[in-house]
Amino acid sequence: VHPTAARRPYAITVQSENTLYTDEHITSKFFNRGSSVTVSDGHFSITPTVQPYEFQTKRTVSKTGLMMIGLGGNNGTTLAATILANRHNITWHTKEGIQQPNYIGSLLRASTVRIGTDSATGNDVHVPVSDVLPMVHPNDLVLGGWDISGLRLDKAMERAQVLDYDLQRQVAPHMALLGSPLASIYYPDFIAANQEARADNVLPGTDKQVHLEQIRADIRKFKADNELDRVIVFWTANTERYSDIIPGVNDTADNVLAAIKTSHSEVSPSSLFAVAAILEGEPFVNGAPQNTFVPGIIALAERHHSFIGGDDLKSGQTKLKSVLAEFLVNAGIKPLSIASYNHLGNNDGHNLSAERQFRSKEISKSSVVDDMVDANRLLYKAPAPSAKGEKASKGEHPDHIVVIKYVPAVGDSKRAIDEYYSEIFCGGRSTINIFNECEDSLLATPLILDLAILTELLTRVKYRQLPSAAQEQKGEFAPLYPVLSLLSYMLKAPLVKPGTEVVNSLNRQRNALESFLKACIGVESNSDLLLETRIW
Ligand code: NAD
Repeated sequence: VHPTAARRPYAITVQSENTLYTDEHITSKFFNRGSSVTVSDGHFSITPTVQPYEFQTKRTVSKTGLMMIGLGGNNGTTLAATILANRHNITWHTKEGIQQPNYIGSLLRASTVRIGTDSATGNDVHVPVSDVLPMVHPNDLVLGGWDISGLRLDKAMERAQVLDYDLQRQVAPHMALLGSPLASIYYPDFIAANQEARADNVLPGTDKQVHLEQIRADIRKFKADNELDRVIVFWTANTERYSDIIPGVNDTADNVLAAIKTSHSEVSPSSLFAVAAILEGEPFVNGAPQNTFVPGIIALAERHHSFIGGDDLKSGQTKLKSVLAEFLVNAGIKPLSIASYNHLGNNDGHNLSAERQFRSKEISKSSVVDDMVDANRLLYKAPAPSAKGEKASKGEHPDHIVVIKYVPAVGDSKRAIDEYYSEIFCGGRSTINIFNECEDSLLATPLILDLAILTELLTRVKYRQLPSAAQEQKGEFAPLYPVLSLLSYMLKAPLVKPGTEVVNSLNRQRNALESFLKACIGVESNSDLLLETRIW
């Protein structure tokens, strides 16, 4: 069942001259307020700035497909099965009693945003984040995708060992109807050798151009067969090794396309999927840590005005770290070291036990405290000024290590142990130890939903700059900038517009998202919006 937007009513009206409603659009006026600072001889001269914009959001949600690469894996099958359980209202027995399906863990569907104060009582009014603007309901997503393992999805769900048996039992017939994943691109050099045993569903040959055309055709066929307006292509396959960035190969859009034609060895499967989606004009999100988005692919997305987002789902340890590190630094406490150990026993852990794949994960996990440290030069010494031509040094930083070990016995239940060792008042020391046990796929799956649903929404939002608050002379509405940094809350190593700073703080990421959603309906908020980093 794929209901139309009409079946899911939209319940917010903003009474303001800044917000206009038509059958087709919600249009809002937004004043992006900031401050311009000039620093000279230790003096800060601040000039407040204001730039008016208009946002226009298409009200009808797209009929949306979600094509996952890695559909037969733990995340892929858990996502499919839980959507089916929600869609068919399947309840199941656990040792605690009867369990209802839900979307707990989804920022959009299980968290709320404060939209104002009740005119009668003066109390805060909160609505689900998913109610602020018309958004796709997860139950309405049409599911499909690829996997190098051809196991039918009911059996793949069984292999994943994530869901309770009684749920698996009931949802299995629905999963079986989804069939097997489409054949995928398998280049053994990019994922761990231990994955080879499951690679029985792969596109033949080694011609990368032919593989690209096949994936493009798959996307087109899925879209046509299911009469979709939009397909989100989502990498939730195994973590690949990093691709080398080679001038002439993957540094520009044309070079990437040429490298595919010559089947260059540094073009990864995930990069081919990203290029396929970009060329089809469909968004691509990378839920794993590897550098799929080489500079040439970002340039290609810009050229085609196609949306991309990444990298790596931020489900457990890193999410906590981006909150704790900020709490410490903002409290004026100086973390000296952060030591993180993980062990997990699922197939992702098996893949990450190989050195080059671990390295991708290590990189994506390691930059998460950088911006908080850089924002506090009272605690951490600034980088020494670099001589001309020399690489800039990084400045003082806490020691930060990440260890990941494969322990099959714990399965999908990942254990994360973190030690935060900090300097406190007058030479004192403080140690915080966190032991965090996360059912990996059940934390990651709602993030995939949030990312897909937000991405679909952001394809429907356009903006234009207004010359001034008074003047109404308007240009054309334009889509947002292709790198969707507004997705950062769900991502470990957020991809941002080249040349702009990454925000890792979870609170700031959430503020940006809330502020943006509110701006689209013309409601003011205290914001970390950084609008200039989201648009052309
Ligand atoms: P998984 O190993 O269970 O599933 C990955 C699937 O991808 C497998 O079925 C595998 O056969 C398939 N695959 C590998 N290469 C492929 C290719 N080229 N084309 C198509 N399919 C391919 O892993 P998972 O637990 O589902 O995690 C998936 C990804 O998400 C991993 O990269 C992981 O690092 C990342 N991730 C997961 C979490 C989490 O909490 N679960 C958090 C952050 C990131």
